[in-house]
Amino acid sequence: MVHSQFLNFCGGFLFGDKAVDEVGVMCRQLGYVKGSAMIVCDSITWEIAGKRISDSLRASGFETVEKNMVEKGAVREEVDKARGRIKSSKAAIVFGVGGGVNIDVAKASAFIEGAKWITVPTIFAADAMTGINATFRGEEKGVDGKAHQGDYDFRVGPPLACVVDNEIVRSAPWRFQAAGFADYVAKACAIEDWKLAYAQKMTDHYSEYGVALANSHISYLIENAARIRKMETGPFEAFLKALMNDGFLTQMSGDSRILFGSEHVIGQALMEGESRMKSLHGEQVAIGTIIMSRLQGLDWKVLKGSLEEIGAPTTARAIGFDSETLVMAIARGPEINRAWMHDRPDFYTILTHKDFTEQQVRKIAKETGVIE
Ligand SMILES: [Zn+2]
Repeated sequence: MVHSQFLNFCGGFLFGDKAVDEVGVMCRQLGYVKGSAMIVCDSITWEIAGKRISDSLRASGFETVEKNMVEKGAVREEVDKARGRIKSSKAAIVFGVGGGVNIDVAKASAFIEGAKWITVPTIFAADAMTGINATFRGEEKGVDGKAHQGDYDFRVGPPLACVVDNEIVRSAPWRFQAAGFADYVAKACAIEDWKLAYAQKMTDHYSEYGVALANSHISYLIENAARIRKMETGPFEAFLKALMNDGFLTQMSGDSRILFGSEHVIGQALMEGESRMKSLHGEQVAIGTIIMSRLQGLDWKVLKGSLEEIGAPTTARAIGFDSETLVMAIARGPEINRAWMHDRPDFYTILTHKDFTEQQVRKIAKETGVIE
């Protein structure tokens, strides 16, 4: 028996060079012609895109465009501040402009206040733009009013639209896009873990359609990494669109297991280490993908090769770790995985299935060239 499920997705994409100047026209097409809007940004993304979005909205008939600056990261205080502004300005649409943090603050504050939200990623370091969750840092009292030890997700649903200005993303530091690429091809490991959990009857759900869709994207990205790196028009556009489609992919898969598996557990282990501030999420996941794909018996050389071609870090040193600290951090993987299973008992992966001792970590890290 297949239970019926209502799936809704990001309602529209505005994609192309100078897209941010067309936001007012897009809002008109979506039925928003006047009133008040709010832009959630920081001083950098205001200069890059926020100001132009504000001009475009005013030109198309919006009377008020409020600016809300994020200063403290993905924390409740920022969501409360943004909510206050939405209330006082009666904003019907909220724009999240920038990387993950601004987008997450926009998503959560608009959702709670009953406004619509539109995401405007200026970098492609992760796939938050069309996702149905907003991610926040652990606090005594989180956005949902509950206590959280580590990072947590707050479910908000899909955005009204997603705006991607190719020109802006092209001129962003490449490191961010390389990290986003790594976060995407990491799905190769996540899928393997999901298959394992299903085969071991640790989960009763598995989506062949979601996996087929993700695999076709992963193969394309791996084969075209060098062309994406050169920002050739076709492959670079395909890369952006693959990441923009993540919200659709997750909903169609019916499970966030398509997004992360054991390689993200290793990424988490590396984030808890001393390099937390030095490397990006996708960069930590890149190392997790190399190590886990070897443990899973996948073609790790192909995955590592694509990460090298795209310019993502593939060694301990490149993410600010010395060899021994990295081995110790990764050896905590099984423990972290089991801790995640308190919340998600179905999160069975290769790390809970097989022994993964410090000696094995060292051996695999050497074999794959992550350490010398
Ligand atoms: Zn990720």
